[in-house]
Amino acid sequence: MADDAAPRTSTLMSAARVFAGYGSPRIMAVVATVTLIARIVVGRWSYGDIAVAGAILIVEPFLEWLIHVYGLHAKPATLFGRKLDPLYARRHRMHHRDPRNVPLVFVPLPVLFGFLIALGAIAYFAFPPVELKLTAYATMTSFLFAYEWTHFLIHSQHVPRSAIFRAIWRNHILHHYKNEQYWFGVTNPLADYALRTNPAKEAVPSSPTARTLGVDDELTLIGSHATA
Ligand SMILES: [Zn+2]
Ligand SMILES: [Zn+2]
Repeated sequence: MADDAAPRTSTLMSAARVFAGYGSPRIMAVVATVTLIARIVVGRWSYGDIAVAGAILIVEPFLEWLIHVYGLHAKPATLFGRKLDPLYARRHRMHHRDPRNVPLVFVPLPVLFGFLIALGAIAYFAFPPVELKLTAYATMTSFLFAYEWTHFLIHSQHVPRSAIFRAIWRNHILHHYKNEQYWFGVTNPLADYALRTNPAKEAVPSSPTARTLGVDDELTLIGSHATA
């Protein structure tokens, strides 16, 4: 009965329609598109563009892995008497507790704004000429959009058909329902292969903390569930 209230996302079109209704994908799409248009307007294409975009795509799987392991799965800590439990980690725990809750799949807006600024700073300072700054930022933000879409589609009712998407889907489902210590890549399993967090399903035990990430914050989640 509970699923009756969930938006229909079984076909790609219906999934895309639901996806387009949320703030985070909309903001990512606008930022990526505007940057891409600016890049095209500036012109002056060179092999540098391929090198910059290629380097970002090579780094991306490892960044995704690092952020997931050390950021999203960070446990609450106390530092100088202050409780440290960042929004991105709290929201990721909520997502693990309730993987089919659609709003919880998306990057929270305050986190997205911070992330867009951080990526902008990297693009600005790491790549001197303006055209390469724009190429870098367009690549980063396009990939961010691809990440959001992939993660959304994995958790939608859409049944994966292609072999590639089925493999990506399977890994993330294993991360949620089998063992949260493995399968950290969302858009691709490359870093999991390289860093050995891509075991055979039978080779690792089912984790009792796959839903809680080992943090007992059931009480704080109930209030925020409806407003997320
Ligand atoms: Zn997920
Ligand atoms: Zn996780």
